[in-house]
Amino acid sequence: MPGKKPASDRVPPNVARIHPYVPGKPIEEVERELGLTAAKLASNENALGPSPKALEAVMSCLSSSNRYPDAGGYYLREKLSARHGIGTENIVLGAGSTELILLLGHIYLGPGRVGLTSQGTFVVFPLAAQLADSDAIQVPLRDYGYDLDGLAARIDEQVRVVYLANPNNPTGTMFTAAETDRFLEKVPEDVLVILDEAYCDYVERDDYSHSLDYVRGGRYVIVLRTFSKVYGLAGLRIGYGIGHPEVVDAVNKMRSPFNVSAAAQAAAMAALEDTEHVARSLEMNRRGMAFLSRELAGLGLKVAPSFANFLYVETGNNAQEDFKELLKLGVIVRPLGFMGMPEGLRVTIGTAEENQRVVEAFARRMAAARA
Ligand SMILES: *Cc1c(COP(=O)(O)O)cnc(C)c1O
Repeated sequence: MPGKKPASDRVPPNVARIHPYVPGKPIEEVERELGLTAAKLASNENALGPSPKALEAVMSCLSSSNRYPDAGGYYLREKLSARHGIGTENIVLGAGSTELILLLGHIYLGPGRVGLTSQGTFVVFPLAAQLADSDAIQVPLRDYGYDLDGLAARIDEQVRVVYLANPNNPTGTMFTAAETDRFLEKVPEDVLVILDEAYCDYVERDDYSHSLDYVRGGRYVIVLRTFSKVYGLAGLRIGYGIGHPEVVDAVNKMRSPFNVSAAAQAAAMAALEDTEHVARSLEMNRRGMAFLSRELAGLGLKVAPSFANFLYVETGNNAQEDFKELLKLGVIVRPLGFMGMPEGLRVTIGTAEENQRVVEAFARRMAAARA
């Protein structure tokens, strides 16, 4: 057929070369096949569930589902503004903070522009760079954490965006406010710095981030937060950015007008008020973290120090094999070969019962692998 281009030309090459995220079988299907109920500890969700108050709020807004949601997220942004002591013009909502990372990539990256981040970090930022037809430079981890000096040394005129996850996913490590200050001194003022603080609620250290001060001080940054972790609303898809007004404006131009559903907005507002649920979640995490770190290290696993709601562990085996064997024992964790960590597994902290199951499953797996 004249004029027909080869298939590879129809999808632009930057999109065609991407290895898509391959979703596994639905967990319900795996459970049916194995005849068991699994502990779902692969995605850093809140094992306590959503806030009951958020659930109530969702129920009562569902009868208005014929109406479009508030495209500006007026009430939720007002609430966040009061909570963080920062103007509403600094706040933008997203269908999860993942959506915001992708939008920021489309806005700030492109051919000839480069994103900078670490290896062994959240895969969405390198993906965002690729989708925008540019590249992400990824500096190796140091002691399972960000090498901020190494990152600073890689900045040149092409680097337009720097992405930092603090605490980092999947290693759980953090860097301090003073370390961030020192790093930012080395970043040109017009380079956008994304500070992804999805797990900030779990950090119980005085020297952790004061990221909102950068925004208050007019620095060209955006801080990302989410309702998917401690607030237990991952399924509803809602997160937000707090940033320089120009960055917020740019995201508002690029996003689809009704990106955040009414149910998600209602749930988020109620969840913010449910301090009891947050406190219970943090308490569960504190105990679970202490228990799992101790017990898994006791089994001879290498466990990175974590400040989030999950642990990075290395068994010394191929993690994909570990994953399969643990699954048969009813424990679902995340093997990290896909991000260049073939011996790494990420284990979300669960309920006391689930954590006990994790330890028993690892004990059996390690014994079998030695045999
Ligand atoms: C879980 C997580 C998020 C949150 O993603 P949502 O899209 O808000 O669910 C963002 N960044 C990191 C590093 C995460 O681990």
